[in-house]
Amino acid sequence: MAYDQSYEEAIAELTKLLSEKADLGGVAAAKIKQLTTELVAVKSNSFNPDERIQNGFVHFKNEKFQKNPELYGELSKGQSPKFLVFACSDSRVCPSHVLDFQPGEAFVVRNIANMVPPYDKSKYSETGAAIEYAVLHLKVENIVVIGHSCCGGIKGLMSIPDDGTTASDFIEQWVQICNQAKSKVKEEASKLNFSEQCTNLEKATVNVSLGNLMTYPFVRDAVVKKTIALKGAHYDFVKGAFELWDIDFKISPSMSF
Ligand SMILES: [Zn+2]
Repeated sequence: MAYDQSYEEAIAELTKLLSEKADLGGVAAAKIKQLTTELVAVKSNSFNPDERIQNGFVHFKNEKFQKNPELYGELSKGQSPKFLVFACSDSRVCPSHVLDFQPGEAFVVRNIANMVPPYDKSKYSETGAAIEYAVLHLKVENIVVIGHSCCGGIKGLMSIPDDGTTASDFIEQWVQICNQAKSKVKEEASKLNFSEQCTNLEKATVNVSLGNLMTYPFVRDAVVKKTIALKGAHYDFVKGAFELWDIDFKISPSMSF
């Protein structure tokens, strides 16, 4: 395209000028270098989603798929992941990246604020179907709920006024699944500032989700038989830290089994 070409030509010209004119004054050379950098930045701003997807897949195919025929051959026959993972939809917290899960290792559900709603056939069939499939058919051995730092969903929950007024179509109703954790944090951490309260809530909601998992009869049965372990986790991408804990039954007194 002419538009693209003019950028490419300008960048090429400037680079040529910079390399040929060795005697250019320091200020002029620096100016040209800055211009070149800016032009490259402008060009790279013209984001092409199709190209990005295509390049991403080509990279994956060349570097992973074709280099691991054994793994992908095995996976073409079926999957038997050891983990069912709940993670936030946040683009910064992909569990396969953060925990280096390879294809076939983790069955993943991602939603706003990594929440597990309680068993409810009509309201939460999407989550229920994923849990049912992972537990009864794939027979996963671990369910891990991973919260994370700076979670927008958790901030949203923390910001809902006490009178319960909401302004969104779905978000606030969804995150209120973990309302009980919010009351607990507000009570216990009233002296902390908003951001610290949110960090506490990121972890407390994970425990509510672990409690909610026990409302699914097939999860409860598997936990009682010890064929499944429930784990809570928190990934802090500011500090680059990861916390992992086993379910604390004291935190979820509403559980009955
Ligand atoms: Zn989040």
